[in-house]
Amino acid sequence: MIPGRRALRINVLKFAESHRSKKFSVQGAPDEPSVQARTVFQVVYADGTVMIDSGMDEQVHRFFGRGVVEPYYPEAAKQVERALRSARAIIVTHEHGDHVAGVIRTPFVAELAPKTLLTRTQVQELETNPQMPEIKISPEMASRYNVVDYEKYLPFGPGVALIKAPGHTPGSQMVYVALESGREYLFIGDTAWHMDSVRLIKGKAAPWIQEDEGALLAQLKWLNELYRTEKNLFIVASHDEDERKALIAKGLLGDGLE
Ligand SMILES: [Zn+2]
Repeated sequence: MIPGRRALRINVLKFAESHRSKKFSVQGAPDEPSVQARTVFQVVYADGTVMIDSGMDEQVHRFFGRGVVEPYYPEAAKQVERALRSARAIIVTHEHGDHVAGVIRTPFVAELAPKTLLTRTQVQELETNPQMPEIKISPEMASRYNVVDYEKYLPFGPGVALIKAPGHTPGSQMVYVALESGREYLFIGDTAWHMDSVRLIKGKAAPWIQEDEGALLAQLKWLNELYRTEKNLFIVASHDEDERKALIAKGLLGDGLE
């Protein structure tokens, strides 16, 4: 719907990792080591970039390790910060710390907030039910961001639409991107932590998270259908390290931010 030339390419950057048994990511998966990549994505237009997710600082990263020190790459985190500052707009898939902290706990909040789009639900969760105290925002802080609400779909930019997808969190949304080349992507955030969830239609088995399991299952069924039938569409799960490597190897995602 939005006029203009579509984006040319999309980049990914991993700035941290969590190491967890795969049995937590996919119901029925074996109890074997698995890397959860902490990532951001950069949609590159001819005349500017849009960031999908904003990363997090090391303190918020430590929350996810729950006592275990996990890899955090400060050089990559600096790249994320530079990419956020040079972006035209920033979208977040959901209101969890590893996706949103980069636009909240940053010395550049005055610069980043006016070009960050948050949904009303994401803001409500950050105000009243934040994943960790570090990302709680006040109503005064919330007013610095672009806060939007929409029913099911929100056209965002040329070739880009947001898809409301509460389930993993109340404020979860997916980001659809069609490139100038015609290739399509669907960024599903944490709807699945590993693409096996989409391939097998099996949700997570992580006792420490609370999700709307009915909504999640419906989304996994829908994604599975897309996965099997839409050969020009690439479904991208934020934390799937196996998929990240494969998409980079195939030239479907650029390795690192511009
Ligand atoms: Zn996440």
